[in-house]
Amino acid sequence: MSFDRAGLEAAVSRAYAAGRDAMGAGAVATYIPELARASADWFGIAVHALDAPEAIVAGDADRAFSLQSVSKVFALAYVLGRDGDAVFDRIGVEPSGDAFHSIVRLEEEHGQPRNPLINAGAIAVSERLPGDSAEARIDHLQVFLRRVHPDGAFPVDEAVFVSELRTGFRNRALANYMRHYGVIGDAALASETYFRQCAVTVTARSLARLGLFLANGGRDPVSGSEVLPARHTRTLLALMTTCGLYDEVGRFAVRVGLPAKSGVSGGLLAIAPGRLAIATYGPALGAKGNSVAGVAALECLAGELGLSIFDQETTPT
Ligand code: GLU
Repeated sequence: MSFDRAGLEAAVSRAYAAGRDAMGAGAVATYIPELARASADWFGIAVHALDAPEAIVAGDADRAFSLQSVSKVFALAYVLGRDGDAVFDRIGVEPSGDAFHSIVRLEEEHGQPRNPLINAGAIAVSERLPGDSAEARIDHLQVFLRRVHPDGAFPVDEAVFVSELRTGFRNRALANYMRHYGVIGDAALASETYFRQCAVTVTARSLARLGLFLANGGRDPVSGSEVLPARHTRTLLALMTTCGLYDEVGRFAVRVGLPAKSGVSGGLLAIAPGRLAIATYGPALGAKGNSVAGVAALECLAGELGLSIFDQETTPT
């Protein structure tokens, strides 16, 4: 379904205003020290329609930020494309209901992560990237990103990477726990790969462009080439819908109703299947680690354009 460009521009500027109104309620993440350099006052949005040559943007749409947990979507897409459903031999597909870095279920469930979008699951996915070092593995991921969006630059923010490498004890604990149960083989390499993956940078504009294949059954609408087979794309969207915003995912489904993935740097990618890829960047986070401005903007946009995947036409009786 295509949108009238002027109508979409007006909806994006209202969503941007809704995001800005909400952002006073959040705070920038500081547990990775380098992330604390971001300003709670930054906010940008990019909305890319499937049939449009470029995104409609507002605010800080060209400001670079590290993907953090949004990277989990692309690492999983890459690994699903290579290994298919074998990824799920040792990683579940159930929402956890716990915080993103929680360790409690790992003990109950013998080191098997609940899903690939919580930290433990993403660390186990990182281990499946090809290569003998974190650099080599993330090089592969960057090549994949550039294949999707050849004009994009996706450098690793080395300062963010080193900052998490120095402080990521909790993620290392998750990796070691999984190593104990034989779910992963090399805990140090898996966690270093994961930290490097989280430090890959995008902008809201480039992230929306990267997400287009997810709104188009796995095929990039610009090049026409298949990025991910349709059935794996469906799996990825199902996981984003059920596990993409940690323990706020139910509330997000009610407020917005789109498959999405958030990250602690303040990025959010949301997909309106068959219609739009939407990226926001607002480092002020709410209590569950999701961008307050991003969620508010998405709620506004989804409401105005009827984007929720749970919206239905009612049949006249
Ligand atoms: N690198 C971050 C961590 O593992 C990512 C978390 C997130 O973005 O939610 O703590």
